[in-house]
Amino acid sequence: MKKIYFISIFLILFSGTNFSHGKIGYNSGLDRTISFPDTEDYLTLSTDLHTHSVFSDGHVWPNIRVAEAQKDSIDVLAITEHLEYQPHINQIPHEDRNSSYVEAKKSASGSDLIVINGSEITREMPPGHINAVFVKDANKLHNMDPKLLPEAKELIEERAQGAELPEEEMRVIENYALGNLWPALEALVEAKKQGAFVFWNHPMWGSQAPDGIARLDEMHKEFIEKGLLHGIEIVNTNTYSEEAFNIALENNLALIGTSDVHNLIEWDYDASKNEHRPITLVLAKERNEESIKEALFARRTVVVFKDKLMGKSENLIPLLESIMSISSNGYTKGTQILKMEIKNNSSANMVLQNLSDVNFSNNDDLITIPKNGKINLQVKTLENLESLNLKFKVLNALTAPKENPIVEFRIKT
Ligand SMILES: [Zn+2]
Ligand SMILES: [Zn+2]
Repeated sequence: MKKIYFISIFLILFSGTNFSHGKIGYNSGLDRTISFPDTEDYLTLSTDLHTHSVFSDGHVWPNIRVAEAQKDSIDVLAITEHLEYQPHINQIPHEDRNSSYVEAKKSASGSDLIVINGSEITREMPPGHINAVFVKDANKLHNMDPKLLPEAKELIEERAQGAELPEEEMRVIENYALGNLWPALEALVEAKKQGAFVFWNHPMWGSQAPDGIARLDEMHKEFIEKGLLHGIEIVNTNTYSEEAFNIALENNLALIGTSDVHNLIEWDYDASKNEHRPITLVLAKERNEESIKEALFARRTVVVFKDKLMGKSENLIPLLESIMSISSNGYTKGTQILKMEIKNNSSANMVLQNLSDVNFSNNDDLITIPKNGKINLQVKTLENLESLNLKFKVLNALTAPKENPIVEFRIKT
């Protein structure tokens, strides 16, 4: 009797499945697609190059990161675990620091998502946290020598804050402190040997920059001089740094924006409020790892953060020209009023200020074109023209802090 009871429970639990509850993802009914058009010369690929999973201090398995990226229509994903800070190492022991990449890659197989291998080299300031992406072997970017434990004492005490912690928690802190003793310079030299693209993470992070100001330390300057640092986050999660933007422009570093997500993307960015994660658009020649890497090293990036597009003008202007298109619907009969349509082919609401000589009969000079939408404009041209130039300042785009780009369109009436 007992046996039959047990078997029926077993059948109820597992009937109709292959013992797997592994199908991931759910349908919230909301479209989370993030899309930006290709430019005339390049493919526009959306990337999130800084995320975490349970293989460091994130809260999800890597396959969830993959599913989220697919829902957001991201083209390129890197899961960049802290090599030295491993709070789940007792519960999820893994010798191989490439593990989350291996899991994510497996989970993305057969899909369009490009998963690349990356790591977060995690240090106190300076230099703080640094991401290396396109690494070949993350294990070689990490080194701790237990014999140096006495040298790590100060950092261990600081992290433990005098608390009597369980042995397992102490091990996490000790590993972090030991990892910190290995000079970041040596990790970056190894990253360079592997051909990795390297950027400074959240230089404006309150924990490491209490006034929120990003500043280059002598150590960062040395990394840049030696060609070991190629980019800087000007956007991380919900933070933006004008100072980091300036540092990028002054030192020819690639502009990077990332989610640095630890929770669920959907918890951090609510699609019902039109939110999406910060991304870096990479202008690549082809849709493959080699091309994406080439584009990053060539600094061909545009950061998208809360409907703002940030990039050097040589990257941003061609993108803006692809995002917006203007067409004429001819003159209203018997008038000098030209009917025009402006389309926005992107996931950002575009905000334009009219700088042309002409103005509009159905709008003031401030124009908002909804994402993936269009608006009609009636232009008072005063005489019936064959063609017309329109000039706009793009208020939701920045080529430098506080500097908005200007775009011009030539329209055949
Ligand atoms: Zn970090
Ligand atoms: Zn991080």
